[in-house]
Amino acid sequence: MKALSIRKLTKKYNNGFEALKGIDLDVDSGDFFALLGPNGAGKSTTIGIISSLVNATSGSVTIFGHDLQKDRERAKTCIGLVPQEINFNQFETVKHIVQIQAGYYGIGQKEAKQRTERCLRQMDLWTQRDTVSRRLSGGMKRRVMIARAMVHSPKLLILDEPTAGVDIEIRRSMWELMEEVNKQGTTIILTTHYLEEAESLCRNIAIINNGQIVEHSDMASLLNRLNIDHFVLDLAEPIKSAPHCTGYQIDKISDRSLSVGVPKEQGLNKLFEMLTAHNIKVISLKNKSNRLEQMFMDLIGSSAAEQS
Ligand code: ADP
Repeated sequence: MKALSIRKLTKKYNNGFEALKGIDLDVDSGDFFALLGPNGAGKSTTIGIISSLVNATSGSVTIFGHDLQKDRERAKTCIGLVPQEINFNQFETVKHIVQIQAGYYGIGQKEAKQRTERCLRQMDLWTQRDTVSRRLSGGMKRRVMIARAMVHSPKLLILDEPTAGVDIEIRRSMWELMEEVNKQGTTIILTTHYLEEAESLCRNIAIINNGQIVEHSDMASLLNRLNIDHFVLDLAEPIKSAPHCTGYQIDKISDRSLSVGVPKEQGLNKLFEMLTAHNIKVISLKNKSNRLEQMFMDLIGSSAAEQS
């Protein structure tokens, strides 16, 4: 069963700006999914449409089999949204904030109380239940947001930058909480600026840029691609074309320079042997960074280049 299926989704704002240009996105039930992209890419617009806060211009969104257009109420019940900004009434108690939310979903008072206790315990907030929320630390406020989003037991939890601005210790404890929620069966879609967060938590990933999906794959194969080191070789003599060296991906940059993808398991020795056999002498070698961040920047850069 798909938790989320998006087809040809577009969004044109009133000022004529096309924030989404026909995106397709699939998230499996039970997944921990990362939706990444630079500022202004279209993440919030996408999340806004999924959670019925923004109207799409065209295309379809299906949430656990419920079409958002035809079956909006049921689709909405499947979703819990944790928005970026803390938006509860800071003069109310933690317990009240969560319990009131249950009421919005038509949950009776007795049941709402039980659910509130369960969610607050899960978010490690039960001892703070009677505290006025403005007195809580930043990390605790974020956890109240999650507890509130979970009180109606949504199958899909959308977390929009849940750890923005919180220090690394709190971030790590939130990772554990999110992992636990996911393990218990809730599908999670996470947007984040911290790529190491996406890397350590998420099994699948989509990268959006300029309203288009530029990458949609599983984290393992994306990281596998990162297991190739990229080098730039400067050559002693000019060459006509890139040599063929089995196991390496070689492209000519200019007459005197080559770009080489070196799989980690291959190493460099064999490459130099093969280049020598082609009478190619290397005078210097530069390493290109290969972190997830580098790939992210490459994808964003190449899609920007395609646009221009
Ligand atoms: P992200 O969440 O990835 O930062 P957004 O979805 O917020 O991106 O925004 C995508 C683009 O749409 C941005 O260029 C933004 O300026 C524009 N945008 C967002 N909301 C509106 C709006 N209400 N009216 C006009 N343009 C908007």
